[in-house]
Amino acid sequence: MSRFDTIVMVDWSAAATAPKTGRADTIWAAVARDGVVGEAEYLGHRIDAEAWLTGLFDAELTAGRRVLAGFDFPFGYPAGFAEAVTGHADPFALWDWLDARIEDSRTANNRFDVAGEINARLPGTGPFWGNGLKRDIPHLPRLGTDRRDMPFPERRRAETAAPRAFPVWQLSGAGAVGGQVLMGLPVLARLRRRFTGQVTIWPFERPDTPLVIAEVWPSLLADEVQGVLTTQGGIKDARQVEVLAAAIAGLSEADLAALLSVEDTEEGWILGAEDPDRLKRGLAPPAPPPLKNDCFALPPGVDWTPVDEALDRLKTAIHPVVGHMRLATAAAEGRILATPVTAARANPPAPNSAVDGYGFAHAATGEGPQILPLTPGRAAAGAPFDGVVPKGHALRILTGAVIPDGVDTVVLEEDVTTSGGRIAFQGPIKPRANTRKAGEDIAQGADVFPAGRRLTPADLALLSAVGRPEVDVFAALRVGVLSTGDELAAPGSTPDPARTYDANRPMLLAMADRWGYQPVDLGHVGDDRAALRARLDEGADRADAILTSGGASAGDEDHVSALLSEAGAMETWRIALKPGRPLALGLWTGTPVFGLPGNPVAAFVCTLIFARPAFSVLAGGSWTEPVGFTVPAAFEKRKKPGRREYLRARINADGQAEVFASEGSGRISGLSWAEGLVEIEDGERHIRPGDPVRYLPFGSFGL
Ligand code: AMP
Ligand code: MG
Repeated sequence: MSRFDTIVMVDWSAAATAPKTGRADTIWAAVARDGVVGEAEYLGHRIDAEAWLTGLFDAELTAGRRVLAGFDFPFGYPAGFAEAVTGHADPFALWDWLDARIEDSRTANNRFDVAGEINARLPGTGPFWGNGLKRDIPHLPRLGTDRRDMPFPERRRAETAAPRAFPVWQLSGAGAVGGQVLMGLPVLARLRRRFTGQVTIWPFERPDTPLVIAEVWPSLLADEVQGVLTTQGGIKDARQVEVLAAAIAGLSEADLAALLSVEDTEEGWILGAEDPDRLKRGLAPPAPPPLKNDCFALPPGVDWTPVDEALDRLKTAIHPVVGHMRLATAAAEGRILATPVTAARANPPAPNSAVDGYGFAHAATGEGPQILPLTPGRAAAGAPFDGVVPKGHALRILTGAVIPDGVDTVVLEEDVTTSGGRIAFQGPIKPRANTRKAGEDIAQGADVFPAGRRLTPADLALLSAVGRPEVDVFAALRVGVLSTGDELAAPGSTPDPARTYDANRPMLLAMADRWGYQPVDLGHVGDDRAALRARLDEGADRADAILTSGGASAGDEDHVSALLSEAGAMETWRIALKPGRPLALGLWTGTPVFGLPGNPVAAFVCTLIFARPAFSVLAGGSWTEPVGFTVPAAFEKRKKPGRREYLRARINADGQAEVFASEGSGRISGLSWAEGLVEIEDGERHIRPGDPVRYLPFGSFGL
């Protein structure tokens, strides 16, 4: 059978009266068409919900669209109940039996009375309990503990798989579902008859019809629903049908078929209860393709690779490795757009006034002194004038007010005198003066941002103005940071002259955080291959990209490069760069690893020059290049050919670049002293004070 085109998820209610929109105990439904979930709709009372559902099913089936409809109440009772009540061990016999007895109106229903009648027919006290009414109901105990000689199991098998679900016997109290079953099954019985031949009820029947109705339980996705409520707010009942519809719509055909393969001819089952993780897969962002194993390969025989060539190779080797998600615009600063955004509405949405003043039709004015009678009323921002301003008249208008009919021009209030219900000003005034055209900033439907845009605070303003309260963004890249080396000591440990405090890890974690990624602290491992292997395994699980520092050369204790080569997906890039070389690049079970040198200055520079643009692409953005400025040097330096050099630098009071006194790559203080880097190209150079040099401020690296 083909895929479902339309998924509709319904949150049911047993309430007698339909409360106002917004109340929790009402019926909500969310529809996903072709994988796109619409905002949940408030259906009000069951009577309206039944009509809405009938209309929806009709329309979808007529359009040749296959529908899966989920309802959040049990479709059956524990084994033996249907037969004891109707004489047939057939859940549909019970549906019809209830349909014949349940009465429902907008002000009252008889669910408690029917439950009492059923109890009376059965041995012992009967199974139902809980009375939400003031009056006593014959044969309906108020407490579950008042029941004697329970003839049926307390829970269905499905409620054993989903232990937090309520038993069907409980009719009142917070969270109870029993009333919803009694009030829901008659509706399903009627829908089943109405769509005979086109509908099957899962899991009682094989779900191979154009319309399939299934029992669902949004609490299987409670954490996911909570996540949405925390980031986006809203009403829980509404959000949870949206999340459930999204999950089911997002499932692969095979996963949904597996969930629908459950069969049960009496009690029913909750879709996904046996395997909630499979259900959750529908919400996981689509996994991007893995990086190619040889993506970091360098051409054979190359000795020292120039920086630009290395960057070009890196650029072509990688692509985004994170999935995407919808996020409230207000929460999306620093995130990268996964799909392009167009304007849902124009900015401004309507022509409006740019100033406080008086509006009129330009055609009725001319040169010299102008006197116009005032029309009563005014136009203000958010409070438009809803009449027509007669030609030759003027209307008081405030900044941001929609330009009313009959007005095309506004005169500034400072240029006007008023008396006796008239205004006077000096002509001529330019036509359309002091007005803003609708869409003069952004037209409706215009491109606003391409995919890959990293959202700035200003972007949040623009997205909001053009009516985009939510955006599709890439999940934050998780950047793992791992320090290696026997000589490293943990922060705060007893000082030992033979050991070095781990300086790289806090620095690299903070850089990842600054760039909007999710830093993942992978700790420190000594020079021990087994330990490093285990930690890289953990890193590949917890992070999308890994930065290691130390052990990247080819020496005895250089385990990072040794392990990556052993894994068969590693290259030690000997890049013609100071400070830096070498850089070990590899894939550890598919996760890219940037093996940085241990020296903090080299680790810092390599991260800025290589890891930063690469992370941007892995995270779904564009390859980034720092913006540099040419400034006079405040220093002298002779540089050998054959490598690129980066010096710790800052701009002095005369606008010249000065450099840190020492080029030693262990001099961390120079990194703090610096506010940028001077980049000296690959060839030989003799720089004298006053000569032009290229300065890259840390700000242009996003620091
Ligand atoms: P390696 O790349 O392992 O040969 O290390 C080069 C130098 O950097 C050595 O002096 C290391 O002690 C030092 N180093 C390595 N990792 C760190 C770190 N996390 N913090 C500070 N210094 C480090
Ligand atoms: Mg080391």
